[in-house]
Amino acid sequence: MQTKPRIAFLGLGIMGLPMAGHLLKAGFPLTVYNRTVARAEDLSLAGARQAKTPAEAAQGADFVISMVTDGPDVEQVLLGHDGAMRGSHSGAVFIDMSTISPEIARNLAETLSQNQIEFLDAPVSGGDVGARNATLTIMVGGKQKVFEQALPVFEALGNRITYIGPAGSGQVVKACNQAVTAVNLLAVCEALLLAEKNGVDPQVMIHVLAGGASQSWSLEILGPRIVKGDFAPGFMVKLLQKDLNIVLSMAQRNGLTLPGTTLVQRFMEDNAAHGEGTEGTQALYKALKRAAG
Ligand code: NAP
Repeated sequence: MQTKPRIAFLGLGIMGLPMAGHLLKAGFPLTVYNRTVARAEDLSLAGARQAKTPAEAAQGADFVISMVTDGPDVEQVLLGHDGAMRGSHSGAVFIDMSTISPEIARNLAETLSQNQIEFLDAPVSGGDVGARNATLTIMVGGKQKVFEQALPVFEALGNRITYIGPAGSGQVVKACNQAVTAVNLLAVCEALLLAEKNGVDPQVMIHVLAGGASQSWSLEILGPRIVKGDFAPGFMVKLLQKDLNIVLSMAQRNGLTLPGTTLVQRFMEDNAAHGEGTEGTQALYKALKRAAG
């Protein structure tokens, strides 16, 4: 009987915790690491081994998956003092599923390859719901043969899994995704304000739009949360700010102006100034409402 590859999973936040849970349920021998130890307890009770450092988690692992916040955090858990690279072996595959800049992803691929470790950038879309339901969209950069090796791991987490191209290209597509998500969310918030001001039940408006050309994830998942006044985070304002910074610095380097993304970034700054940085991105509605008077 062929044994499944061993996986180390680093970062058990809103996304990482359910994703690691799916890998465990799919039968992969799993070791988890989380900076805040208590967050790993449920998985540990369910059968995962718990490591004290990323280096310890990576020992003997065929795949090391990171799902942390930003580029510097990924660098820390992979390359830092107790980072996964210290505990890993030649031939292991590191997969970063966080959203970081393509440039940092390319640098990580380069540094790891000098240590005989393969690297894939594999950011995701589909939100907290996609992570819980294992229906994430996964966009992958790196070597194609390494992508094929990692496919069974991705299949336990998502259902639209696409090889894009060389290292960093998964993150390029993720940046495109964030521009669309951000501008789309702004449009959803505008539609909600219009419906409310004109005496139409916003739930009915959402139902109608979801059946036509305006259908979108933000409309169907975040729209009802806004109507209920539920601003708890699936995806935090401060994380979308991070992502839009990535998008806008890429655009700046390309000599592009992105007015829609820039506008959403301004509203997110207003959210942050009002103490809403750790709320869900649907809090954009509050910033828009303040601006709309
Ligand atoms: P989150 O709930 O804030 O979780 C972040 C995780 O990273 C936590 O486990 C945190 O550990 C860990 N972490 C952060 N910095 C660290 C460091 N320097 N060293 C060690 N651990 C560190 O965020 P999330 O929503 O799961 O997002 C994770 C990544 O997925 C981000 O890049 C985000 O942009 C991306 N993403 C999120 C969504 C979404 O809908 N939420 C969708 C697609 C992509 P602690 O528990 O100790 O804080």
